[in-house]
Amino acid sequence: MPRKKSLRDVDVRGRRVLVRVDFNVPIDDQGNIVDDIRIRASLPTIEYLLDSRARIILMSHLGRPKGRDEKYSLAPVAKRLSRFIEREVKMAPDCVGEEVRDMVESLGEGEVLLLENLRFHEGETKGDENFAKELASYGEVYVSDAFGTCHRKHASVYVVPRFLKPAVMGFLLEKEINYFERAMINPQRPVVAVLGGAKVSTKLGIIKNLLKRVDKLFIGGAMAFTFIRAMGYSVGSSLVEEELIDTALDILDIAKKLEVKLYLPVDFVIGQEISDSTPTKVVPWQEIPTGWKGLDIGPVSVELLKEVISDAQTIVWNGPMGVFELDRFKSGTFETAKLIAQSSALTIAGGGDTDHAIHKAGVYNAIDFVSTGGGAFLELLEGNSLPCLEVLDDKE
Ligand code: AMP
Repeated sequence: MPRKKSLRDVDVRGRRVLVRVDFNVPIDDQGNIVDDIRIRASLPTIEYLLDSRARIILMSHLGRPKGRDEKYSLAPVAKRLSRFIEREVKMAPDCVGEEVRDMVESLGEGEVLLLENLRFHEGETKGDENFAKELASYGEVYVSDAFGTCHRKHASVYVVPRFLKPAVMGFLLEKEINYFERAMINPQRPVVAVLGGAKVSTKLGIIKNLLKRVDKLFIGGAMAFTFIRAMGYSVGSSLVEEELIDTALDILDIAKKLEVKLYLPVDFVIGQEISDSTPTKVVPWQEIPTGWKGLDIGPVSVELLKEVISDAQTIVWNGPMGVFELDRFKSGTFETAKLIAQSSALTIAGGGDTDHAIHKAGVYNAIDFVSTGGGAFLELLEGNSLPCLEVLDDKE
């Protein structure tokens, strides 16, 4: 990955700094923030800028509003942030326009202004140049810290940094990239990847990339059934992607050629329906009866995973091992989370439901790094570059 400048490489003292943060937090019907982890993740950058007496202009999207919709206002975020940093966070009525410009121009040193939801304007998702130019005109320095949106070519992450220089990484983005590189680019070996989730089709790129980088790959979740089916066994009514059976065989072959040890679960918790009231049984992988579905990995598979990661120096985890949203089928995922949390290896996790599962398992603080970006983390796992990173200034 190209080396990019970070916030530490530029002088921000007293300057207007436009920061793209990811304040896309869940908000309930009463306007309460349900989970503020993304706000907290942006604090190192914001506090550094406060210490530097910068004039701080924050911008973010929230949800997927179609035009202006108060339900998606960032006002509750301004309040929560102001509690964290113990000073006022001014809330702009919009993200562009005369009134916003006046607020930006009257911003004093060490003051913070939060622009209203960028997605109230379609120019954001369309990557509109005029919209981006107006945002860019507010700052003298651009800081990219919205890792969760880094895979999108939206105006605030991809176009603004073309018009506003210097354009550098904030501390969250830097941390995300550093951890990823430590785990995948220059890792301590053995490296074990634990991959779960529903479909091989959505993880194909990831599997192919991981095979080039890891020493061991454990595939759980519904994905395992396409592989077991490919080896010629019946999997009852478990989720199988028939059209990917040949691909699954290719993957097994590639793993052998690259000498990557590939593991599949050896037992499953099965049920007749995806529901908490369905009867369940635990069976070896060869014995899933007709009419039953594998909905979680079983206890012997958890033991196997424990063995597999016992010598790991680096572990990367993405995707649940079963239907962890239901009590009956959550155990495999939670046990996986605990095993990874207990490991002395460098542990990183992220993408899709993984951080949700880690929170529910109660081990969030015991994993070295949980990525704040779902899609962006998956793009990195696939070996793709992130557009928003490419447009930032290169390190000399
Ligand atoms: P993904 O977004 O691909 O990581 O998939 C996550 C989803 O996979 C979760 O909603 C899980 O409920 C689902 N999932 C995991 N294992 C199974 C399984 N054995 N059968 C059906 N769905 C599963």
